[in-house]
Order: sequence, then C-alpha cells, then structure tokens
Amino acid sequence: MSHFHLRDGVTHCEDVPLPTIAQAVGTPVFVYSANAMRSQAKALRAALAPLGDPLVAYAVKANPNIAVLTALAAEGLGADVVSGGEYRRARAAGVAPDKIVFSGVGKTAAEMRLALEGGLCQFNLESFPEAEMLSQVAQSVGRTAPVAFRINPDVDAGSHAKISTGAAHNKFGIPIDETAAACRALQSLPGLELMGLAVHIGSQLTRLAPLEAAIAKLGGMIAQLRSEGHRIHTADLGGGLGVQYDPSSQPPPSVEDYGAMVTRLTRGWNVRLIFEPGRLIVGNSGVLLTEVIRIKSGPRSPFVIVDAAMNDLLRPSLYDAWHEFGAVAPRGGEMVADVVGPVCESGDVFALARRLDRVQAGDLMLIHTAGAYAAAMAGTYNSRALAPEVLVDGGEWAVVRPRRGDEAYLADEDVPPWLKRAE
Ligand SMILES: *Cc1c(COP(=O)(O)O)cnc(C)c1O
Repeated sequence: MSHFHLRDGVTHCEDVPLPTIAQAVGTPVFVYSANAMRSQAKALRAALAPLGDPLVAYAVKANPNIAVLTALAAEGLGADVVSGGEYRRARAAGVAPDKIVFSGVGKTAAEMRLALEGGLCQFNLESFPEAEMLSQVAQSVGRTAPVAFRINPDVDAGSHAKISTGAAHNKFGIPIDETAAACRALQSLPGLELMGLAVHIGSQLTRLAPLEAAIAKLGGMIAQLRSEGHRIHTADLGGGLGVQYDPSSQPPPSVEDYGAMVTRLTRGWNVRLIFEPGRLIVGNSGVLLTEVIRIKSGPRSPFVIVDAAMNDLLRPSLYDAWHEFGAVAPRGGEMVADVVGPVCESGDVFALARRLDRVQAGDLMLIHTAGAYAAAMAGTYNSRALAPEVLVDGGEWAVVRPRRGDEAYLADEDVPPWLKRAE
C-alpha cells in the first residue's frame, strides 16, 4: 500500500492530511513517510536474507537529511558515503563506523583522515593513485586502512547517460583488466589491507541484465585474485535498482527478483556481501508538495505555474525525468497542461502536455517520487530559499529542515569594506 493515499477526498501521508502540513509550513515543502522507507528497507532485507548477513549501506547522497538517516540507522542500515560531510552525517545519525563504506572518485587526504580516525568498514578505491595517497595518510595517522577496489566492468547500464557509471569511458572505477595488477601492486603499499572488490554501474536501472553481467565479471575477478593468492573477504555489489516514476510504464525489477538473481550468482563466493541502495529506499517515500500560483494560457495547452521549481527538483531539467503529479484534493475532471516553475529558465519545466487532475490557482498539488535526489540536489538559484523538509511517522509529523528566511541567506554574505565606503 502506498503511504500517500486519498482519505475523504484529501491526500494523506500516512495519517497526516497534506493540507495540514502545507498550512503550517508553507509550500513548496518535501514530505517524507518514515514507514515507507522502513518498509522498503525491510523488503530489501527480506529479499537478501538467503545471503546470510549482508551489509546494507544506504547511499546517503540520495537523501542525506539527518532524520532520514536516523530512521534508517534504527532499521539497521549502514551508510555508503561519498564525502567528509556525508561521513559526519552518518556518524551523527548513529551509524556504527563498521557499517560505513566510503566511495567516490575524488576522496581528499582530509576526508581519508577523517574516516580513518573515526573508523569505517572499507574505502572503495577507484584508482591506484588514490591507493597511494591513502597509504600515506594511513601511515601518518598510524592506522591500517581496509580497502576494496571498485572495478569498472565496462557494461552499459541502460540508464540515462548522466547516471550510468559502469562503461569504460565513465570516470568511475579501475578498468577490470587492470584490477589484478593493481591488487598485486597494492601489497607494496604500507598501511592498506585489501578486503575485496566493489562494483556500481549506475542508477535507476530498470533491467537486471546489466547488473547480472557486472556481478558475473566481479565473481570472475574474485576467483582470479584468489588463484593469485589474495584473500578476498568482501564483495560490494553497489546500488542502482530503479523505482517506478511513471505509473503507466513497465515496473522496474522487484527486490525479490533482484535478491534471487544475486543469490544465484554469488553462490559459493564465500564473502560478506555489501549493498548500497539509495533511490530504492527513499525514492517513493517522499513527495514535493506545491501550490498552483496561477494558470496562464499557452499556444498548445495552458501553463500550470506552481511554486516549486527546478532549484527544488532538478531531475526533470537535468535528466528529462518523469514525475507524476496529482491534486492533493482532486476536484474531479482532468486537464492537459505544461507544468512549470517560476524560475527564469526555459528548462524550468516539470511536464509537457501532461494529462493531470484539473486544478486552479491556489490548489495544492503533489509531485510524486521526490524522496531521492530531490532535496539532496536542491539549490537556491533565483534567490529561492531551500524548500523545507517534513518527516511523517504514523500520525506524527515534524519539520526536519526548516525554511530559512531571505534575511538568513543575506546574513551569510558580506560586502567588502571598500564598497561600503562608497556611500
Ligand atoms: C549513487 C551511488 C549509489 C546509490 O545509487 P542508487 O541508484 O540510488 O541506488 C550506490 N553506490 C555508489 C558508489 C553511488 O555512487
């Protein structure tokens, strides 16, 4: 059952009517369902149960709000982090150090030091120069760094080009045919301990075949490394499982099918498996609540101008992504319209010639599937404040990131003294 549903003609998040939140907090506002996230986490864990005790490390970048992280940490999830900021957030949310994986192609020495001193499960290294830097940092702080190499399996994820990461021309990972040499060379670097291998081929994957190809290549590489005398303890299979954005499209693979595929492919690997789901956990656990400012006539169809914009939800303009729309309290009837935000960019369009619930100025609308890569990617372009975030849990709700006023943003900036003298 969706955790966003109509009750008495009004959309609720769990037991809370969305107009209550809009009235108290204003719009636009992100609304997250804690129980939707929990049920996604539970479904994934159940599907992975045949694999023993895998580490499920939630990809923090999908939605880094501290309340979200705290709820997921309480479900037993670890964290996949890609910056010092994310590492600190995960720790602040109560994620145990040994459940944290540090990914990313450009880790700095300062970020390495932070995670080494605080502790972690492993660094996923993406190049040999990165291993050399980590070796120096590890020696300087007197710790041994657990590491895995992220391989680039050269498979086409079949996803949008901007969120595909597993092809040879992408910046990510070590080319698979250089991995054995890198592991050999690693042995001469003090302060590093090879734990295993990792792979992550992209996001919003809607077919299992590319994942299966990548996992099979990882398995082959594990066997090769073992035959060369390396001890391999972990295999990190990354994230990337897609969620449904367009209800009329083919649903993405289920977690059950994913779990069955992984179970079949990893039989006999004798490693601890690690998973890094992001979107799967939070994507459909959030909506962006927005108000229709006005309706303007257009040459093809009317423009529905809402108070959310591309700075709040970048995915449509960045990835041509589809987001489903609905009226919070449908009046009955439908219309065809372009849904646009107020930002001064022609790309500030959420949907073109879209059939949607008939709405008029002042109506509340919700933009679905806004729990992942939404608030996380928001900015303040056009001097628009970041949209606040609300977490709903059953009948309770709280603002988990408030809206800052224009004064607060202005107070962050300074005019240099020589310009002030001009008056
Ligand atoms: C972004 C990312 C993930 C999460 O991807 P989803 O598609 O949200 O599951 C996992 N691992 C790495 C290394 C990532 O960069």
